[in-house]
Amino acid sequence: MDEKGPNKSIVILGNGISGITTARHLRKNSSHSITVISEESPYFFSRTALMYVYMGHLQFDHTQPYENDFWEQNKIDLVQKRVQRLNTQEQTVVFDDGNTLAFDALVLACGSLPNKFGWPGQELKGVQGLYHKKDLENLETLSDSIATATVVGGGLIGVELAEMLHSRGKKVHFLIRESSFWNKVLPPEESAMINLHLLAQGIDLHLSTTLDTIEGDATDRVVRVHSTQKETFDCEWVGLAVGVSPNIDFLKDSGLALGKGIQVNRYLETNLPNIYAVGDCAEQLEPQAGRKAIEAVWYTGRIMGETLAQTLTGNKTAYQPGPWFNSAKFFDIEYQTYGKVSALANPEKESQLYWGHSKKNCSIRLSYHPYTLTFMGVISLGIRLRHDYFDRWLQTTTSINEVIQDLTQSFFDPEFTPNYMTDILNEWETQLSTLAPNP
Ligand SMILES: Cc1cc2nc3c(=O)[nH]c(=O)nc-3n(C[C@H](O)[C@H](O)[C@H](O)COP(=O)(O)OP(=O)(O)OC[C@H]3O[C@@H](n4cnc5c(N)ncnc54)[C@H](O)[C@@H]3O)c2cc1C
Repeated sequence: MDEKGPNKSIVILGNGISGITTARHLRKNSSHSITVISEESPYFFSRTALMYVYMGHLQFDHTQPYENDFWEQNKIDLVQKRVQRLNTQEQTVVFDDGNTLAFDALVLACGSLPNKFGWPGQELKGVQGLYHKKDLENLETLSDSIATATVVGGGLIGVELAEMLHSRGKKVHFLIRESSFWNKVLPPEESAMINLHLLAQGIDLHLSTTLDTIEGDATDRVVRVHSTQKETFDCEWVGLAVGVSPNIDFLKDSGLALGKGIQVNRYLETNLPNIYAVGDCAEQLEPQAGRKAIEAVWYTGRIMGETLAQTLTGNKTAYQPGPWFNSAKFFDIEYQTYGKVSALANPEKESQLYWGHSKKNCSIRLSYHPYTLTFMGVISLGIRLRHDYFDRWLQTTTSINEVIQDLTQSFFDPEFTPNYMTDILNEWETQLSTLAPNP
């Protein structure tokens, strides 16, 4: 018992960033009994770092930010087992060995699963996604037998897979349904830069190309891929990277309200008492304006975990994700975005200023409201930005002029400033003079 009431038994299903953040913050603020369950791995690791293990930059152990004895020291019990279903009447989780574990409160932090769209051949040996530790192990096991790989899906995980295979000298066919890389998110200039960069790396990029069937040999190992455009790609391995979906199938008969994910209100509460959901598996019923109901990114999982731990320790707190941001790498080009920058210009709702280096792979684009001139967002490639500046500019109402004025300070790399800032400002002055109204 602590000063906030009797100790409860809190069970957290999932030891990813959202479940583990919930557990750590619960422990900071309470003496509740905490059990974290995951079938995948005994200890929390950084999923985002899996690619670097394959590429030899890190060992798997380096992806685990806490020493193995941290959990025992902090009285957080870890259980490596699969939960088959919930018994919500009796408030228990049921493991696949038939054993059960009772809870006073249950936090579902069960993440996503890679999408598969029922393609013929998708279950062949050598066809996989990249999500779990096991995926990395499977790829590692087959790696020596792969000379040519096909990666399907032009998003962030697709480009990671292409880089991974390429780093070990495999020929990579990269099949992208869209007419330009990630062009639902990246505006045309940025998207074109990445197309060219992929080609320059030696990636066999196939735009406007969709997967039709995957063909296997007599041993059920993949041998080639066919596109709906009637092209054929011989390969010994296929990476499916066509997005992820909340991992909710095992919850279908639980009585939980499910949409695409586990539906939660602003307090991350489900429709059932004492059951909550955080991270990739949670679907917000009332997302903030301009935000998606499901945001499968690292930092939102972390914020949800911190928020829910507050509620579970007596300080009921609504989820506030703050301004949107995301970052990634397209081979060696760093990508950052904060706030809203539309891929396709909509002059009525959003004005944009763009600068791209004539020879190097770096660019920056700012968006702002065309009438109020309020700063709305940024996309940068090859230029590292300081999070705190953009977060502050977006949290408060800041004019585009103010952002331009202080932009130099927001660049992470001080050498960058003298080289490009004058060029950027000259370019934007020209663009601003042709735009109405002019800030
Ligand atoms: C390759 C890759 C790269 C990424 N890169 C980035 C990036 O650069 N930036 C970014 O913001 N995001 C990135 N993401 C997304 C980010 O990693 C996820 O949003 C985040 O890890 C989700 O965390 P989570 O805690 O919600 O779920 P997860 O990390 O998926 O954790 C859920 C855990 O629950 C376990 N589990 C589920 N169901 C059961 C069950 N029934 N029984 C037992 N255990 C179960 C799972 O095995 C898993 O271990 C990347 C994702 C991948 C796959």
